[in-house]
Amino acid sequence: MDKIQVKDKTFTVSIPEADILKEVKRVAAEINRDLEGRNPLFLAVLNGSFIFAADLLREVTIPCEISFVKLASYEGVFSTGEIREVIGLNTDITGRAVVIVEDIIDSGLTMVHMIETLKKHNPSSIDVCSLLVKPGNLKVNLDVKYKCLEIPNDFIVGYGLDYDGFGRNTRSIYTIVEE
Ligand code: 5GP
Ligand code: MG
Repeated sequence: MDKIQVKDKTFTVSIPEADILKEVKRVAAEINRDLEGRNPLFLAVLNGSFIFAADLLREVTIPCEISFVKLASYEGVFSTGEIREVIGLNTDITGRAVVIVEDIIDSGLTMVHMIETLKKHNPSSIDVCSLLVKPGNLKVNLDVKYKCLEIPNDFIVGYGLDYDGFGRNTRSIYTIVEE
């Protein structure tokens, strides 16, 4: 299926499932190598990262834990630019090697705010692991240590990412078709 309809918009396949999984495996291997002996705690950012987190964790072979946090909701196809609060952090991260698992980094503002929030809990380290990065939109200096794929600034859905709540349930990633 090359084209899909999500609500009122049409999307066309841009990253096939096999390409995604290949990059997920590569990044998991980097994490296995770098964080061996550190018992990392993955903090997956819901909702968008749920599929990525599931695939990534099954490629991680070192002892690890996972927990989930949420941010205030993202609506429509444009980022509001508002700082969104981190909610649901009920795991003690003190002294832990934290790996934030995010679906996509756009302006990077959300991630910077999240790192600042987590730092207050004194983890031993914080690394960012993102499925996608839009380098063309980055507004801050952010080190994304583990990144699967870089993409252009177009709006995408699938593999966990949504358009207005829909479209998360596809195996590949799709880009919006401008009409
Ligand atoms: P940032 O603070 O980096 O601008 O916002 C990142 C968040 O915006 C992501 O976690 C995601 O929720 C949302 N986002 C940014 N670009 C896209 C996109 O192309 N598609 C979808 N579905 N969400 C996006
Ligand atoms: Mg997200």
